[in-house]
Amino acid sequence: SAAVKSQPTIFDKIISKEIPADIIYEDDQCLAFNDISPQAPTHFLVIPKRRIAMLDDVEPSDKDILGHLVFTASKLGREKLGSNGFRLVINNGKDGAQSVFHLHIHVLGGRQMQWPPG
Ligand code: 5GP
Repeated sequence: SAAVKSQPTIFDKIISKEIPADIIYEDDQCLAFNDISPQAPTHFLVIPKRRIAMLDDVEPSDKDILGHLVFTASKLGREKLGSNGFRLVINNGKDGAQSVFHLHIHVLGGRQMQWPPG
């Protein structure tokens, strides 16, 4: 709902360092940290520091940050996983199985992925 989407999430507390996370990259626009419940040997999240709840909400003015998030996820994936490949995932809304309403790119790797996903 709109009310839920306007609320801060646990990721705001990770950005502000109020709660700990295993941070692997940070710049002025984004933060990357390991997922607390990894679904692959490498599983980290790349999030914007400015909260965007979900892909449903993105606007033309978000194109720069969206590009920066995908670029950063790709750069970090390459650095950590070399030429073996990796997967980027963005879950959006109920059918997309989104659970945290602060936009995030999952970067998964270190094992053979299957397609299609469940
Ligand atoms: P979603 O289902 O919304 O795409 O994924 C949210 C992800 O955030 C999940 O993979 C979940 O394990 C991760 N997550 C939720 N809470 C925390 C937390 O407090 N710390 C970290 N590092 N990851 C979290």
